[in-house]
Amino acid sequence: MIRLAVTSGKGGTGKTMVAAALADISAVPQVLADCDVDAANLELLFEPRRLTTEEFRGLAAARIDPERCRDCGICADHCRFGAIVRRNDAWEVDALHCEGCGVCTYVCPMGAVLMEPRVCGEIYTSATDRGNLAHARLFPGSGNSGLLVTEVKKRAASLADGADLLLADGPPGIGCPLIATVSGMDAVLIVTEPGVSALHDLERLVTVCRRFGVRIFVAINRFDLAEDICARIEDYCREEEILVAGKIPFDPSVIEAVRNGRPVTRKESPATDALRELRENLFSELGLR
Ligand code: SF4
Ligand code: SF4
Repeated sequence: MIRLAVTSGKGGTGKTMVAAALADISAVPQVLADCDVDAANLELLFEPRRLTTEEFRGLAAARIDPERCRDCGICADHCRFGAIVRRNDAWEVDALHCEGCGVCTYVCPMGAVLMEPRVCGEIYTSATDRGNLAHARLFPGSGNSGLLVTEVKKRAASLADGADLLLADGPPGIGCPLIATVSGMDAVLIVTEPGVSALHDLERLVTVCRRFGVRIFVAINRFDLAEDICARIEDYCREEEILVAGKIPFDPSVIEAVRNGRPVTRKESPATDALRELRENLFSELGLR
C-alpha cells in the first residue's frame, strides 16, 4: 500500500480541493484520512456514514481539590502559563491555559493538585462511496492536534485492509500536525500557488519533508494567475529534483464545487482535466494503477 499525504505551506492554496479530487478519481482501492484536524472537511464532501465515534483524550490537565487546598497560592506563583487563577475566593485551574506541565503538583505542599486526562475531541471512522474515512474533531481551545493526527492515521491503517492507497489530507504549515502527518508516509504532494510567499512556504515545507525521507511532488494551483512566479516555482522544483506532477488553472467551477460541497471532479471543467492529468502523473510515479 502506498501512503500519500497532500499538504501545503499555508491554508487557502486548494490542498483539500486537490486531496478530494484525487480521492474522487483515484480508481484504486483506498482508505482516506483527514489529518487536517484543526479544519477537517473531507467529510463535508463525501457524505460519510458514521461507523465509530471515540473520545480523544489529550495530555492531562491540572485540577485543584478544594477540600485539600490551604489557599497558599504557591502553585499560582509557579505556573508559567498563568493557568491558576483566583475565582470565587479560591484557586482554580483554567483548563484552556493549562499546558499540563505538572509543576503545580510538584510544588503544592498539600498534594491538592491532581493531573487528570481531558477530553479534547472525537475520532471517527466512516464509510463513504470513495472508501473508508478516518477523521476527527478537535474541540475549540484544545491542543494536541499532532497527537490527534497520529490517532487518525492509526484508525485509517486499521481500515486499510485490501487498500492500495492510503490518502491523507494533511494540515497546512510545518508544525506538529504536519510532522505527525508526514511521518511514516511514502510520498507527499505539496499543493502550492504562484506567489512569492507561497514559494517561500514551499521551500520550508520541502526542507521539513526531506527529513522524513518521503518522495516529494508538487502541484501548482491557479498557476495561470501569475505565470512569472509559476516559472520560478518550476525552476526551484527542477533544481531540487522535485516533479511538478500537475498544474491546475484558475477555474470558476472550483469555486462552485466548493460552494456546493462536492469534489470539483464531479463535473467536466478545465480544472477537472488538469486534476486527471495530475492523478495520471502522480499515480504512475507511485506505481499505482
Ligand atoms: S499550592 Fe496547593 S495548597 Fe497552595 S493554593 Fe495551590 S493547590 Fe492550594
Ligand atoms: S500543570 Fe502546569 S500549566 Fe497546568 S496549572 Fe499546573 S503549572 Fe500551570
